[in-house]
Amino acid sequence: MNNEKEGCIERQALIFNKQKYNTYDGPGIRTLVFFKGCPLRCKWCSNPESLETGYSVMFKQDLCMNCGECAKVCPVNIHKMIDGVHIVDRSINCNGCRKCEEVCCNKALKIAGEKVKISELYSYVEEDRTFYDISGGGVTLGGGEVTAQAESARSLLMTCKRGGINTAIETCGYVKLENLLKVAEFTDTFLIDIKHMDPEMHMKYTGVRNERILDNIKELLERRYNVKVRMPMLKGINDYKEEIEAVIEFLSPYRNYKNFLGVDVLPYHKLGVYKYVQLGWDYELNEQEPLSEEDLARIKSYFDAHDFEVNILRH
Ligand code: SF4
Ligand code: SF4
Repeated sequence: MNNEKEGCIERQALIFNKQKYNTYDGPGIRTLVFFKGCPLRCKWCSNPESLETGYSVMFKQDLCMNCGECAKVCPVNIHKMIDGVHIVDRSINCNGCRKCEEVCCNKALKIAGEKVKISELYSYVEEDRTFYDISGGGVTLGGGEVTAQAESARSLLMTCKRGGINTAIETCGYVKLENLLKVAEFTDTFLIDIKHMDPEMHMKYTGVRNERILDNIKELLERRYNVKVRMPMLKGINDYKEEIEAVIEFLSPYRNYKNFLGVDVLPYHKLGVYKYVQLGWDYELNEQEPLSEEDLARIKSYFDAHDFEVNILRH
């Protein structure tokens, strides 16, 4: 098998999930591999366990019996019993040993993050080759931000390409161009977000400005890589006519490029909210309303008015 190795030590990726039979994130039927680490902090992120570059301790307090078993086995003292109550000390880094997860009879603990060899990930991906062959599918690397582990991502993508498997990545685009190009060589399709055209609004809702992202989208399109643009869509934040017209104007020079694959709109949902509780973080968009069918029709009409291909992805 064609996995890339560094000296005698095979490269690994820190992932937090894998999924089969996806039909949203790239063409055909796809296997997804979710990488950990992200430079953005989007307030609506539905995978908050992806954000930290290391392991994340997820704690379901409602399942905890305060038995103290996790505190006995944790080598770095993250779990503490204070006055008979189990507390997770989030100021200490988890080393991913999973002893607490194993010892908890009530399944109150889950460690997000697992180091997996590239060859093992490839074997997992390869299991569904038949589905890829009949559907034009393949593997999609997402996250988190896949280029936060650019070398590992490149290794897995290269191994898949050499194995004849179609490849895609989902990226926030906030990455040095050189790291993007490192993975581009082995990537058939880029799924890349435009979250807001206004740099200040982008900063407010994601923690970073958008210039680098927009430059990278242009670079990928100019270099003739296949690019599908994705827009997480939130009522009152980026769903209004002027904002969508700014996106259309930005993409207009590329509308006839064969490698520009159009725009996916991803309506906001609250599926990840309970994970914030498990991580001990605040969820700032509690009051955010979902988009109605009328809203989605209105948003589509802005694209239609410019004869711009758009696809609303309902999860
Ligand atoms: S082992 Fe599980 S049930 Fe016991 S204190 Fe730790 S988290 Fe709670
Ligand atoms: S995985 Fe290991 S280091 Fe991390 S919290 Fe559990 S016992 Fe502690």
